[in-house]
Amino acid sequence: MNVLVLNVGSSTLKFQLVRTDAGRMAANSDEKLARGTIERIGGEAVYTLRGRAGEAQRGTAQLRDHRAVVEFVAKWLVSNDAGTGIDRISEIDGIGHRVTHGGEQFRRSALIDDAVLRGIEETIDLAPLHNPHNLRGIYAARSVLGGGVPQVAVFDTAFHQTIPERAYLYALPYQYYRRHRVRRYGFHGTSYRYVAHRYRMLTGRTREQTNVIALHLGNGASACAIAGGVSVDTSMGFTPLEGLVMGTRSGDLDPAILDYIASKEGLSLPDVEGLLNKQSGLLGISGLTNDMRELLAEAEEHDDRRAWLAIEMFCYRVRKYIGSYLAAMNGAEAILFAGGIGENAAPVRSTVCEGLEWLGVKLDAQKNRDTVGGAEGKISGPDSRVEVWVVPTDEELLIARDTVRVVEGLDSRY
Ligand code: ADP
Repeated sequence: MNVLVLNVGSSTLKFQLVRTDAGRMAANSDEKLARGTIERIGGEAVYTLRGRAGEAQRGTAQLRDHRAVVEFVAKWLVSNDAGTGIDRISEIDGIGHRVTHGGEQFRRSALIDDAVLRGIEETIDLAPLHNPHNLRGIYAARSVLGGGVPQVAVFDTAFHQTIPERAYLYALPYQYYRRHRVRRYGFHGTSYRYVAHRYRMLTGRTREQTNVIALHLGNGASACAIAGGVSVDTSMGFTPLEGLVMGTRSGDLDPAILDYIASKEGLSLPDVEGLLNKQSGLLGISGLTNDMRELLAEAEEHDDRRAWLAIEMFCYRVRKYIGSYLAAMNGAEAILFAGGIGENAAPVRSTVCEGLEWLGVKLDAQKNRDTVGGAEGKISGPDSRVEVWVVPTDEELLIARDTVRVVEGLDSRY
């Protein structure tokens, strides 16, 4: 099947065209035919498109809304420029959408029909910044490719619906859960499912045998305790703000700080929430950047104290979560690093693991340094009691595979 994967934001759209089916998935031989990003939708949009040859085609186009963008992408995909080997839009067999929030309704990926659309709409309250745009993408794709092409929603929260009540509830008066569904939902579920599945393929484990702590460390960052192949806890909560120190998000803090800062600085609560989301984390501590690569360079080259501090705080928080999940799940057999930082920042991985020597974690320094830039593999030494792996994530590929499985009526929880 040729699956168009769409990840739609307020003014951006990312896409990938993937050829996959059950056989290719088992052999890990799915084919990526094209991908691209369109930014600043609504006016003079800026596009970067990569066909099969992988060379970027950049430019601008007047694209006034999401429908215009999907139409633009579909036309390009069947053009000679893309080199996908597909020359009719009708050869796109399915569309997979990344949907941020599935609330408690969606425990797995779903074939989009009117009831699913209603379900996503009902969840808008929980993800007002994301779900409306995801919906816009669904309507745009339906209008451009026609109602006959199956569309599948893959939810970032779905994987975490197995988290038990004791871990997903906040210790607030229970009625706020009952009335408003205030609870931990967790995010990055698509990434965790991909990473856990890939780890199983690499190690020959079954789903039930998979007991790991997975770390998705990108601009947004989170940790996930996976026991018996399912999520039993995760660090992001009601929103993606909770948990680890991130590029611009604070992660965990005492909620009383919000009101205190608001009154001291004359800010509203939404202002302070904005500050916690956009001006905190690595950026807030370093005062320099939210970008780990730049921060590492700054720390090394200029010995900048606050750059070091931000990196240390980031690693310390990750380590604390690993410790707490090990206690929560009665031990794990491996720690998996993924995301831009997890896949590339060898110094971050070694600092996180240096604090885990009590546990018998021993990195192989050479393997740690070498496993970067998309490489995958074990980076712990032979005598490490808990293994450490780098498993590059691929959320788009998981969405494409799910789309095939849902369309073919197979269980998407593999
Ligand atoms: P997003 O959450 O936006 O998808 P990514 O997973 O792409 O983010 O991760 C972005 C982060 O990964 C940035 O902080 C970036 O600096 C970091 N990163 C990417 N490459 C490297 C590298 N070679 N060394 C250190 N950090 C890196």
